[in-house]
Amino acid sequence: MSGPAEDKFSKYRRATSEDRPVTWPGWAAAGVLLVLAVAAWMHAIPVYFPSVAGPAPAGHTAGMPSATRVGTWKRPGELAVVYFDVGQGDGIFIQTPNGKNVLIDSGEGKTPDSRYLKMIDAGSRIILPFLQQIGVRHLDIVMASHPHSDHMGSMYEVIGDRHITVGQLWISGFIYSTVSNKKLLKTAERRKIPVFAPQPGQLPHKLDLGPEISAYVLCGDPNAEDANNSSIVLKLIYGRVSFLFTGDAEKDAEKTCALRWGQTLKSDILKVGHHGSKTSSTPVFLNQVRPEAAVISVGSYNTFGHPHAAPLERLEKIGAKIYRTDEQGTIFVFSDGKSYRVEPSRL
Ligand SMILES: [Zn+2]
Repeated sequence: MSGPAEDKFSKYRRATSEDRPVTWPGWAAAGVLLVLAVAAWMHAIPVYFPSVAGPAPAGHTAGMPSATRVGTWKRPGELAVVYFDVGQGDGIFIQTPNGKNVLIDSGEGKTPDSRYLKMIDAGSRIILPFLQQIGVRHLDIVMASHPHSDHMGSMYEVIGDRHITVGQLWISGFIYSTVSNKKLLKTAERRKIPVFAPQPGQLPHKLDLGPEISAYVLCGDPNAEDANNSSIVLKLIYGRVSFLFTGDAEKDAEKTCALRWGQTLKSDILKVGHHGSKTSSTPVFLNQVRPEAAVISVGSYNTFGHPHAAPLERLEKIGAKIYRTDEQGTIFVFSDGKSYRVEPSRL
C-alpha cells in the first residue's frame, strides 16, 4: 500500500511560468549564439548559463570517511562506482580509470522537500569530505537525476565548494520551484557552470568520459507528468561491465525507456529506481535490464516503506543480488572492465 508519505509526495505541483527557478539574465546576442551552437553540438539544451558573481561558499568539516578505505581507494586501471549511504536518497560518485569524475545525485540537504524527509546535509557531511580524502578537485559532470531534494538537496553545496570545480551540470529539466533547486541553479550561475538537460527526441546523448568509457543518457523527459518520471537514465559501460542509473524513474518512465531501448538497457549493475518503491522495477523494465546486481539506495526506517516487498521479489526472481545502503552502508563497486567486485563499507 502507498503510505501517506507517498501520497504527499505525489502532490508536488509543476511550477508555473511565474515561479520558474530558471531565469534568463541578459545575454549578449553573441553569447546566446555561442550557447545555442554548443547545445546543438551536444544535442542538449543548455538551461542556464552564468554571469553573476557571489560570495564564496562555506567550507566543509565534519564526517570524514575512514582513512583505511580511502588509502586503498582503488587499483590502477579500475572504474569505481560508489553508492553512498546518504539515508533516504541517492548519492553516487564515479571515477573512471583515467580519472574522470562524475557525481550523480548528492543526497538530502538542509531544506527537504517533504516533512517526511530528514535533513541530512549529505553534501557537506559525506560527499565533500570523501572527495577531499581521495584528492578530487574537479568533477567533470554533476548530474541531478531529477529535482527532488533527496537527490539534489545538497548539490548546491557540492558545486559551490571552493575546493571543487565542475565541468557540466546536468538536470532533468523538469520545472520544480524549491529552495534547493533555486540554490542549485543560482550556484551554477555564480560559478559559471553550464547546465544541460536531455531532450527526449535527441537521445541518446554520449557523455565524454574518456576513450575507455561509454556513457549515454538514454532517457529523461523534462515534460514528464511528475518529477520522478523526468529522471535521467544513464548507462555506463567499461569493457564488458555495464551500469544503469535510473534516479527515481517509475513505471511510466520505465515503460517509455524499455519500449525505446529494449535490450540496450541490459546492464550488470542496476541502481534500482526510486529506492525500491513498488511503483518502480516493473517487469517490462527489469526484463530488459536483467541485472546481476541491484543496488537500492534507501534510508533505515524511512516513512515511505521503501523498499517494498514486490520489487524485491521481482529483482530476486530475475536472479539479481540485492545490495542495500540501509543495511550495508556505502556500496563500492570496482571493475577492471572484465569483471567487477562489490564491497559494502561503512564510511
Ligand atoms: Zn528519491
